[in-house]
Amino acid sequence: MSPDTAFASLSPDPEALLKTLFGHDRFRGQQRAIIDRVIGGGDAIVLMPTGGGKSATYQLAALCRPGLGIVVSPLIALMRDQVEALRQAGVRAAAFNSSISQDEYRQTIRAIDSGTLDLLYVAPERLLMDGFLAMLDRITLSVFAIDEAHCVSQWGHDFRKEYTGLGILADRYPGVPRMALTATADAETRADIRKHLRLERAQEFVDSFDRPNIRYAIVPKMEPKQQLLAFVKAHPGESGIVYAMSRARVDDTAEWLRGHGVEALAYHAGMPPLTRQKHQDAFLRQEGLVLVATIAFGMGIDKPDVRFVAHLDLPSSVEAYYQETGRAGRDGLHADAWLAYGASDVVFRRRLIDESEAPDPVKRVERAKLDALLGICETVDCRRNALLSYFGEARGEPCGNCDSCLAPVETWDGTLAARKAVSAALRAGQRFGAGHLIDILRGTETEKTARFDHQNLPTFGVGADLSQKEWQSVFRQLIAIGLFDVDHNQFGALKPTEHGRAVMRGERPVRLRRDIAAATKAALKKLTAKTKAGPPAELGATGTALYDALRAERARLAKEQSVPAYVVFHDSTLADMAARKPRTQEDLAQISGVGQRKIEKYGAAFLAVVREYI
Ligand code: ADP
Ligand code: ZN
Repeated sequence: MSPDTAFASLSPDPEALLKTLFGHDRFRGQQRAIIDRVIGGGDAIVLMPTGGGKSATYQLAALCRPGLGIVVSPLIALMRDQVEALRQAGVRAAAFNSSISQDEYRQTIRAIDSGTLDLLYVAPERLLMDGFLAMLDRITLSVFAIDEAHCVSQWGHDFRKEYTGLGILADRYPGVPRMALTATADAETRADIRKHLRLERAQEFVDSFDRPNIRYAIVPKMEPKQQLLAFVKAHPGESGIVYAMSRARVDDTAEWLRGHGVEALAYHAGMPPLTRQKHQDAFLRQEGLVLVATIAFGMGIDKPDVRFVAHLDLPSSVEAYYQETGRAGRDGLHADAWLAYGASDVVFRRRLIDESEAPDPVKRVERAKLDALLGICETVDCRRNALLSYFGEARGEPCGNCDSCLAPVETWDGTLAARKAVSAALRAGQRFGAGHLIDILRGTETEKTARFDHQNLPTFGVGADLSQKEWQSVFRQLIAIGLFDVDHNQFGALKPTEHGRAVMRGERPVRLRRDIAAATKAALKKLTAKTKAGPPAELGATGTALYDALRAERARLAKEQSVPAYVVFHDSTLADMAARKPRTQEDLAQISGVGQRKIEKYGAAFLAVVREYI
């Protein structure tokens, strides 16, 4: 099968394509429903966590409809690997951006004109050029897929102005279904996507945002570098990202890790572009490298085998934390998300907001978002449940795969405090943030308590037994566990949820985390030891040896073609291969991640390796 004939011979049955191209047996979650919606010509807004399988939905939807599929993606450097992975699977894909050669450019134009291209990745600014749109006017289009669609929202941390121009596609190509895909889910962002991308009639598909394979741990910051080193050393030979707040800290940390025998490189916007690119490429292509970076790094990074993401400093919001940690474990194998958090982070983050040039309403939103993250840092309950509850997902059972679940912290009975807090919010009309509610609870007379006549509320002064700081901690925790919704459109006003009202009525107890600094070093050590990752733990000695041999073969094949290893096969596919020891091509086809084209291309080589071990 040459790339030119790949699809002429394939049926447009999505299920069959999923198997032939990507080697997966069945669709996950809502993938099939999304694809059907788009094949039928409808628009879709797709909210799925990283690694949930978004790419597969637009790729297959595009292949099942006649014409060229356009994928809008914000980071040009990263389209390359996606395109490479598609080509390896036999899909006729190309990317259009400023980094391609004249030759490639002409080749792609020819393929578009002759109708022999299935998918084209473009940056938004390129798509919106008159010449480009004029070209699209001439051809049949299967679908527009707008990836990382949250970039259209000013609420988010990834706002990109070019994205707001993409709404014009609605009028210019009314017959072409459009999909917006993102892993950022809050309600404001969702509304912005619908509005600015003109997706008024789109059906929304929302998957669970849980990433069960990621183990969350948040530790009190004591000696951050030493703590980081211990954490990184617990992941020998594994790829990971370390986020730090400033460029200086990034450089310093990378150097320090190197000095302690860790292969680490720095990445931030202050470096010469070529060096930065070189470091990014090394991270994508080389195995076992640690990249120390500012948040300038990461969006659109598709590397599936990032085994850990460490934060040396507190991220700006829950969304940012979720996005950044979400870069770990896209392949579904065990991964660690680790954050060192201290009081200084809170002070620093607050000051950043206070001193920013942003208008007051924006600052209030940022403060509320920061507080929600602090709540997750301080929760006594399952971190995962707190995280998911922020995104509106209610879950009952603790996850068993976060530090709170694995190494429970000391708690106190916060039921009474919580009841007072909810009561104060209700009595004050659900229009106020924590600061004012704390003044009411502590009986602090201010201009505002006088103006709203809150000094006469029955709750005024009922919480004088706790200090302002303690109340702040209480409120942060109550937001995290879902007793309050934070209304970003109403200046961070706290609105008691059904859960909150139940607590106030005395129907549910609340336990709160004791001061975070009380956690002992011994507890931390225990956790670090427990968080050691390693994909093929259950393989046994022979299986592990085979797994290593398969990885070596993969490295050889990847190097030969100068592509990243995961473009050949993912770790999870190799782990499955090591466990099942396929003897024939038919056996091989049973393994998830082995499509038809990959069998033709690599089957013999990997079967030969397996044969050595049976
Ligand atoms: P996203 O774009 O949402 O981050 P991807 O499309 O990159 O996620 O998919 C993440 C991983 O899941 C990839 O390794 C992909 O091959 C795999 N995957 C996608 N769909 C399926 C499926 N139906 N069954 C098994 N694995 C799948
Ligand atoms: Zn948990």
